[in-house]
Amino acid sequence: AQHFLARSRQHATLGAFLALDEEATLAQARAADARIASGDRAPLLGVPVAHKDIFVTRDFPSTAGSKMLQDYRSPFDATVVRKLAEAGAVTLGKLNCDEFAMGSSNENSAYGPVKNPWDPSRIPGGSSGGSAAAVAARLAPAATGTDTGGSIRQPASFCGITGIKPTYGRASRYGMIAYASSLDQAGPMARSAEDCALLLSAMCGPDPDCDSTSLDLPAEDFTRALGGSMEGLRIGVPKEFFAEGVAADVRAAIEGALREYEKLGARRVEISLPRTELAIPVYYIIAPAEASSNLSRFDGVKFGYRAKKYGDLLDMYRKTRAEGFGEEVKARIMIGTYVLSHGYYDAYYLQAQKVRRMIADDFQRAFQQCDVIAGPVAPSVAWKLGGHGGDPLADYLADIFTLPGSLAGLPGMSIPVGFGEGGMPVGLQLIGNYFQEGRLLNAAHGFQ
Ligand code: GLN
Repeated sequence: AQHFLARSRQHATLGAFLALDEEATLAQARAADARIASGDRAPLLGVPVAHKDIFVTRDFPSTAGSKMLQDYRSPFDATVVRKLAEAGAVTLGKLNCDEFAMGSSNENSAYGPVKNPWDPSRIPGGSSGGSAAAVAARLAPAATGTDTGGSIRQPASFCGITGIKPTYGRASRYGMIAYASSLDQAGPMARSAEDCALLLSAMCGPDPDCDSTSLDLPAEDFTRALGGSMEGLRIGVPKEFFAEGVAADVRAAIEGALREYEKLGARRVEISLPRTELAIPVYYIIAPAEASSNLSRFDGVKFGYRAKKYGDLLDMYRKTRAEGFGEEVKARIMIGTYVLSHGYYDAYYLQAQKVRRMIADDFQRAFQQCDVIAGPVAPSVAWKLGGHGGDPLADYLADIFTLPGSLAGLPGMSIPVGFGEGGMPVGLQLIGNYFQEGRLLNAAHGFQ
């Protein structure tokens, strides 16, 4: 823990951490030492893990990258944080992210952007940009992230690390500050599929009292799935994931990875996910709709920021929200409120829900032909800070390959497979069918 704390301080200019507290970390480390001394053999005993600042923690502030929650302290730990601590993990600190996990570049954080350790003039990806940068720069051996529409997979890809988003419902959302509840899912980000398997095993499991959407499936030891042969593994390659718009360097790295898999005995199967493009409008209706509802709790009354000067109660709400939320969050609250409003609900929200179902059905058809689906995580390598010139649409379009799996609730991961323009890492996305995390991690491990 001391080693990683020192490195984190040394590399503070990356902007990966929002909170470090040596005393709190070392107290947890000493408690882990005591458990080791008493013969405890918990799987992560003494392993330092940093948490995305979207998870609430008792020992550290929890901001969700927002001014709205500046200096906020939670009275409890998120279930995922608690479970990791029970498995022996030591909290290293809290990691920067896009405000309320809304973004693809970490530039929407109220506390400044994170720099990509491979090239500090570039973004680390988002919204779990701090998590990806911290692991890539070896400021932490592993980190937690959350993925609503790609926020584990895309930053993992951009920073050359491994990350997995499990099946929706595998990990409890209790204490994960909500963005879009039907999509939000926690997962680990680490150096390898093996490390991810260790962490994910500790993070998952039912939590019926705290999250009614957590699945009633027993915790699994995903490390037991590792080491299986790639012989005969059917890898589905959707033709829509190689459409124009995918940069040549990314295409080359992905093709190279697929050839490697073939050498290991896997079989490449051409498949189609015909509604891939529709995932963008569908996601950017459903996610803001749910966000507009979830973020109504930030009203200056119960917790968090409150405007200093105001007239009546309504004015207090108005000023608190105007001052506490950043631009992108406000834009999404407005989009969400609009698509849910009377007269527009049927045209936008309901329609989006119907197409979401069709996207999920497309995956089920595809999985009749293959065991896992593979393709790029994003159409390009990490772009330059400010590279999209503040155009949110450019960010939204870059989410095209991660959104379909999110809408379907499927597990997905990113593993580093090569380098592209500017020597930047390229990640291969692997998507599995529901509850196939073990198969996914094994496929990733086989490559690594
Ligand atoms: N980039 C997507 C968004 O801004 C996904 C973010 C996420 O997965 N949290 O909504």
